[in-house]
Amino acid sequence: MELSVSTIRGRISAVTQQIESVSSRPIDLVVVTKTHSPEVVRDVAAAGAQIIGENYAQEVRDKAAVIDDIRSSGVEVQFIGQLQTNKVRLLAGLVDCIASVDRPSLIDEIAKRMPGVRIHLQVNATGEVNKGGCLPDALPQLIEHSSDRGVVVEGLMAVGPTSGDPHVTRQAFRRVGELALAHDLAVRNYGMSGDLQIAVEEGSTMVRIGSAILGSRN
Ligand SMILES: *Cc1c(COP(=O)(O)O)cnc(C)c1O
Repeated sequence: MELSVSTIRGRISAVTQQIESVSSRPIDLVVVTKTHSPEVVRDVAAAGAQIIGENYAQEVRDKAAVIDDIRSSGVEVQFIGQLQTNKVRLLAGLVDCIASVDRPSLIDEIAKRMPGVRIHLQVNATGEVNKGGCLPDALPQLIEHSSDRGVVVEGLMAVGPTSGDPHVTRQAFRRVGELALAHDLAVRNYGMSGDLQIAVEEGSTMVRIGSAILGSRN
């Protein structure tokens, strides 16, 4: 069943209150609309979301009409999924920020196809295999590479450990927060529905919330 705009507004406000109960820092909320229909994207914007997050390049294309509309009314679109280099061109003109950048070839393609787009470098702070993100040691090189290509790195992004272990989650987020500080990057983009509180406690400035607002996905 589709949620009403007022239900979505209520859920956004509940998440915002949860964040404010942990920290008085300003924290941006990305409402993750992946797998949801264009109508839901429209309703999320109508409910007051300032930023929406999408994971799949083809899906962004399929939602192009609604994305154009909400962006022209000031809502930002952030790409948060693992991104193949040959899919970057699909995102051109449809997203404001790519939060999942983790290798030089992707930076090259972004510089070529989407000059001016902001990026976050994704860090795999738990060192898990088969997970997006660069290892912390690779960060200085990626930052330099971005700067050489004229791509603006706004911050760091991370996804908590697959295990969901709260202790490992906290260590991982803490590390990413320290890395952002060390590299003077303002945005610390971590925290999802299941680890929101730990993320905010560990210094997040931007959280990406899907299921806590829109329910479970198909
Ligand atoms: C799906 C997804 C989210 C949102 O996850 P929820 O658990 O539904 O809040 C956030 N970040 C990324 C990278 C995702 O893929």
